[in-house]
Amino acid sequence: MGKHKIKMMMREVVSRSLWHTGLWRLVDRLTPRRFTILAGHCVVDPAVNADLPSDMKITGERLEMLLRVLGRRFRFVTVGEGWRSMRAEDDERSLVALSMDDGYRDNHTALLPLLERTGARATVFLESRPLTHRRVNWSHKYFWMLQAGGLQPTDLATRLGDRMGGDLGERCQAAVAQPEGAAYRLKRILKYDVDALARDAAIHAEFLEAGGSESDLCNRIYVDLEEAQTMRDAGIELGGHTVRHEVLSTLSPTEQVREVADGRSATVELLGDEVGVSFAYPFGRRWDFDEHTVAAVRAAGFESAVTTHAGTNLRGADPMRLARWMLDETTPIHHLVAEACGGFWLFRKLGLELAE
Ligand SMILES: [Zn+2]
Repeated sequence: MGKHKIKMMMREVVSRSLWHTGLWRLVDRLTPRRFTILAGHCVVDPAVNADLPSDMKITGERLEMLLRVLGRRFRFVTVGEGWRSMRAEDDERSLVALSMDDGYRDNHTALLPLLERTGARATVFLESRPLTHRRVNWSHKYFWMLQAGGLQPTDLATRLGDRMGGDLGERCQAAVAQPEGAAYRLKRILKYDVDALARDAAIHAEFLEAGGSESDLCNRIYVDLEEAQTMRDAGIELGGHTVRHEVLSTLSPTEQVREVADGRSATVELLGDEVGVSFAYPFGRRWDFDEHTVAAVRAAGFESAVTTHAGTNLRGADPMRLARWMLDETTPIHHLVAEACGGFWLFRKLGLELAE
């Protein structure tokens, strides 16, 4: 049996025993104060997010159940409040925040009523360009072509490869040779391995040819200014998530500063200073940002920044690299509880990472 398999088995044994025996409440009392941040994108609302992949969605019922369980034990905060409270040591209790990335319209139609029902708090990280110019990033045109546009990954690979030229045609074809996972592999090439401008131009041309309308798509999936204001006024924290949602580590330091700082100033201008406290790195994996990004985030004036690496955050955590738990419909409650109560942290201290 491989090492990874053993670790996954241990994760199940540890988290299920903590959860099912109720031992997690004791562990919560015995371990240091924690700030656990949940992360997702969309609450299922077919009118908004039918085109988006399932790992970006969670149903309202499921999310509500998770929040109710955690809310009985921990104090709900926004990301900005949570980090300030950890720094100030102003409470004994451990904290939980819910965060949603990008600024999808279901955060207004479905998340907002759910927060009102449960008393939970949330932070929504907004890309600024959909808000200011009603433009969407390339990935949404890509998803749209495969769903509403009815294109097959193989067709799309041929068309995009032809437009982008060089050896990209062959690489795109190789990515879609096996039907299983083809759309995901093609997207990965488009995300990391191609020139962003050439990719955006190629995707936009194909999107128009397939009958897409960027403003219609943006109006359907992203919140507009009025919706963002309503969310803010209802107590949702809004945070920064750059202008165009690029992989920041693939940009020059100057372009990174522009993406981070311009995104912040555009949203602060529209929605107020409280929008400039918390930041989420687009995609959020270690290789998606670098030390130039961290410097740019700090220089722009953000107090904290979140990644998409699993974990919980203790008082000594790096505020520019806060860990989060990614949520989708398949996220088990016992994993969340094992992290939020400090159970996984105990194993981490022993040198065993059970979270990922
Ligand atoms: Zn994002």
